[in-house]
Amino acid sequence: MTADVAYWIFAAFAGVFGLLFGSFLNVCVARMPEDRSVVWPGSACPSCGTPIKPYDNVPVLAWMWLRGKCRACKGAISPLYPTVEALFGVLTFLLFRRVIPDLADLDTPHLAAFVWYGWFLFALVALTFIDLRHHIIPDEFSIYSVPVGIAGAALIGWLGYTGAPTWQGSVVGALVGGGGLAAISGLYWLVRREEGMGMGDVKLLAMFGAWFGGTAVVTILFLAACAGSVVGLAMMLVRRGGMRTALPFGPFLALAAAVWLYAGRVLEPYVTVRVGAMLELLAG
Ligand SMILES: [Zn+2]
Repeated sequence: MTADVAYWIFAAFAGVFGLLFGSFLNVCVARMPEDRSVVWPGSACPSCGTPIKPYDNVPVLAWMWLRGKCRACKGAISPLYPTVEALFGVLTFLLFRRVIPDLADLDTPHLAAFVWYGWFLFALVALTFIDLRHHIIPDEFSIYSVPVGIAGAALIGWLGYTGAPTWQGSVVGALVGGGGLAAISGLYWLVRREEGMGMGDVKLLAMFGAWFGGTAVVTILFLAACAGSVVGLAMMLVRRGGMRTALPFGPFLALAAAVWLYAGRVLEPYVTVRVGAMLELLAG
């Protein structure tokens, strides 16, 4: 067996792990906004409550062979479930490619980094769907993940992985992300007397800072604001009259963070410099 084949087998395994975690992700999205346990009881049909058999819980495939219907009551099962599973499978596969690009990199430091980024990715996808549906961002996927980010940065740095911030950089990132956005939010409130951004977004930026560091978190906020403005303007044009649209900002932040996670190294020389230059311009 050539090294190439071995590598792609590992990468495929990572994708399958992603599919399985995608299934758990669905459970989190459905239950966490209602404060229900994500581990007990097991999955049940949303229509009739019949527990789902393990063989009907296979990611993506089960939905296909059941043709989107519950085996017991034939009630419809949303295509969102297999979509989230497939999405997370693909994203996990791509994360493996990004963190472990070569068989030679398949060692403890890189695997630890893969798990650490995997936690982040899980939080990112889960909070996106929860924020879209309920306009809230659970603390588990924002502020509570900050210590995980810092401890993980310390651990993988100690193991010898160099592609992530040091634990000090991680602490500074969390402070810049949380503190910086809180300051902007406060200023906005002083000027406009209304809440520009929710505390959920502030806590989310703190988490981004813990994984990416201070400079990146500013860039991510900038990218998200650009994307949010474009979509917001488009929605205003379509709806005409309405000036304000209740568009949650969290999914834009998550999208920008995902772009940074996968393409940050490519974007860095361009975007970061521009943001840096802009800040210098503002300061000077
Ligand atoms: Zn049913």
